[in-house]
Amino acid sequence: MLDAIHRYFHAAADVVGLDSRLREIILAPRRVVKVDLVTESDDGQLMHHQGFRVQHNDSRGPFKGGLRYHPTVDEDHAAALANLMTWKTAVVDVPFGGAKGGINCDPQQLSRTELDAMTRAFVQQIHEVIGPNLDIPAPDVNTNSDVMAWIMDEYSKYYGFSPGVVTGKPVHLFGSVGRDEATGRGVMICLREQLMSLGRSLEGVTVALQGFGNVGSHAARLIAEHGGRIVAVADHLGAVSKEDGLDVPALCEWAATHRTVKGFPDGDSFNGAEVIVWPADVLIPAALEGAITVDNASDVRAQIVVEAANAPTTPDADAILNEKGITVIPDILANAGGVTVSYFEWAQNIQQYRWEIDRVVEELEKVMVRACASVREVAKSRGVDLRTASFVLALQRVGRAALSRRTVREPISLE
Ligand code: NAD
Repeated sequence: MLDAIHRYFHAAADVVGLDSRLREIILAPRRVVKVDLVTESDDGQLMHHQGFRVQHNDSRGPFKGGLRYHPTVDEDHAAALANLMTWKTAVVDVPFGGAKGGINCDPQQLSRTELDAMTRAFVQQIHEVIGPNLDIPAPDVNTNSDVMAWIMDEYSKYYGFSPGVVTGKPVHLFGSVGRDEATGRGVMICLREQLMSLGRSLEGVTVALQGFGNVGSHAARLIAEHGGRIVAVADHLGAVSKEDGLDVPALCEWAATHRTVKGFPDGDSFNGAEVIVWPADVLIPAALEGAITVDNASDVRAQIVVEAANAPTTPDADAILNEKGITVIPDILANAGGVTVSYFEWAQNIQQYRWEIDRVVEELEKVMVRACASVREVAKSRGVDLRTASFVLALQRVGRAALSRRTVREPISLE
């Protein structure tokens, strides 16, 4: 996956003729941490898990990025996603760098007490390299506000009361209102802005969605509230469709109870893999990476793909989508609403001041609309697709900050 992200980076770096010295400076991760976590299971057995934290770049501010609990987590995986975070925080211009990490485990096999113990063991191993001004983790796949509360609690044992060490905390424990839905809201705004640039609106637009977790379910709800029709939804256990649009609030309720969309009575079930090639105006991959590959890209029927997940499209598949004239709103823009409200949460923690939901929604709207407009402007002026434009914008911002913080013998241009 890291190779794929480097490919996107170099394509954008070529557009601005970026000096090879600066490519080296901003591509190499600053720190890679790998730890062995030893905890006891509920029945007294010793458990070993590997934890990772990759801190990619902090030129524009403290490292920032999620923690994932999943069997696919390893160093390469964390390095790739850390790299993406650097560009994502730069695209929306929040004052953070990029990091990512997680624990290689199958959380479905762990009890709540085992998860709590494993999380605290992770903090015990990495507390020296995280912190409110250093590196601020957040939730990602299979981690949530409970996990963030445990991290804050364990970290605070070393350094005193430190709510700013993580974001995505429970609202009653220094979290921000609106953080839960923020990534989904950002997805909706990006789609709305893209449609507006084509003289259209969300009204009546049909959407196929892969993934109905935090990001997918909120994106679906908000798009439906703005008149869009969610015609197909797949998760890892099942899939459901309805031509005139699924009842999203009812589907959310069903998924909250059954932990899957499978079996939802008010729709037809189908083979989930087909969601990628579903006949709909818009495709939103909101699950895991590598959903759109050379094997299915030629069959995508949507006109717009909104990458709510991180790295859901392989570079070869991305080239096929481009050739087919399909507009791809890239992950580093499309799912940046989450880190934006994480920034608001961190700012509230630092100031010990609470924002109302209206302010969070209004400020998120401002940040996302501005980022969408800036990316479209770069795409137009450089004659490139939205992904390359997002990377151009991001690497210029990161590059300028990196250059201002060091002196190089020969000046480097970033125009
Ligand atoms: P989540 O764990 O809440 O939900 C993941 C969803 O994907 C679930 O519905 C699961 O069933 C589904 N899924 C997993 N494998 C699948 C498969 N093979 N086919 C179909 N569906 C599958 O995770 P999330 O927080 O919603 O994150 C989803 C994606 O968005 C990830 O790529 C994550 O990195 C990215 N993201 C999340 C946030 C955030 O704020 N949560 C922010 C930015 C990016």
